[in-house]
Amino acid sequence: MSTIAFLNIAMHGRVNPTLPVVAELVRRGHTVSYHTSPAFAAEVEAAGATVHLYPGGDQPLPDPPTPLTLLRGLAETAAALRPALLADLRAVRPDLVVHDSACPWGPVVARELGVRAASSFTTFAFNRQAPSPTRISRELLAEAVARPGAAIGYLRARWKLRGHGLPLTDLGNLRQPLNLVYTSRAFQIGADGFDRSYRFVGPSIGARPADPSFPIDELKDPILYASLGTVFDADPRLLGTFAAALAPLGGTVVVATGNTDPARLGPLPGNVIARQSVPQLDVLARAALFITHGGMNGTNEALRAGVPMLVVPQGADQPLVASRVVGLGAGLSLRTDEVREDVVRALARRLLDEPRFREAAGVLRDAQLDAGGYHRAADELERYLDPAMAGASRRD
Ligand code: UDP
Repeated sequence: MSTIAFLNIAMHGRVNPTLPVVAELVRRGHTVSYHTSPAFAAEVEAAGATVHLYPGGDQPLPDPPTPLTLLRGLAETAAALRPALLADLRAVRPDLVVHDSACPWGPVVARELGVRAASSFTTFAFNRQAPSPTRISRELLAEAVARPGAAIGYLRARWKLRGHGLPLTDLGNLRQPLNLVYTSRAFQIGADGFDRSYRFVGPSIGARPADPSFPIDELKDPILYASLGTVFDADPRLLGTFAAALAPLGGTVVVATGNTDPARLGPLPGNVIARQSVPQLDVLARAALFITHGGMNGTNEALRAGVPMLVVPQGADQPLVASRVVGLGAGLSLRTDEVREDVVRALARRLLDEPRFREAAGVLRDAQLDAGGYHRAADELERYLDPAMAGASRRD
């Protein structure tokens, strides 16, 4: 049995897909340490890993998250964490380091300890069609010219990391001889262009605690679901428009409001349930339609359930996710400034009435399930650790 150290950045979307992998590795008898911030300690511990906290508490994410602020934040954090992390890992003595693709302190410490490393991608793997946000781009160069102080801040932190084998800028796209990608080859943009180091293991979705407060058994078909995720502060008018547009089409309309108080949506039709958080996997398992911002986790989950989507991207990689969903025929997309009750209702009606959307979503559901999920991710890590051991400890 091996000792495996997971290193990650402080984002739920990055941490969540790794947790079922951790739980599976622990179930197979490996020892797993997880190096993270206090905000994630409880869920990491629940997955069965030993939590090691980064020094300095929770790290705020760069605001606004532009290419340059991201790069600077990543480089400065890597330089700051390195000494304490090395001391921690010397005690843990891992056989393998698994780090997020945007976690530069992962490759730095793995190299210093002489330990193998694997990288994990929770968005798309990056190529020309799905470009890494931290690559050298016109946007990055223009920002460096406009904000020389931030550029110097980055170079100063990057200088401290010299000699560790990191790329000069692309710190959000760190590759290793094994790269786990948490979507299917079918959903990945330009999948054929990736070499064998990339393993498209599909959505890593484990069991979630039941939410007895949610009336799942009382929902009436067709169930129509809308959520703009957990990161952005969803505009209550936008959510209210979704609710009003869907109510005449649905048995029950479920709206997850995230950080927004449901009361701010105003009076809602009687068949709408609006909650800050809903058991999304249970709702998707029965939903006929999902209005989403196109976060990668939620999109992967909807595809895994074969649910057609109306994607209303709010930022980050979501426009790319939206265009991929549309390109594969599994949904439609709408810009935020185009959202009106009649427009949303007309698109929702098409998604419900035209069978081709559900058929395309069904093809992707099969691809997402076939990719293997967290079981496959654990298999790949075991094979990487020791080709002779792969599968030996697996219990299906
Ligand atoms: N989620 C949930 N209940 C909610 C809203 C979200 O369980 O009411 C989960 C959802 O299943 C997904 C994650 O939170 O795993 C959201 O991730 P995503 O990448 O879709 O969006 P983000 O919130 O990161 O923008």
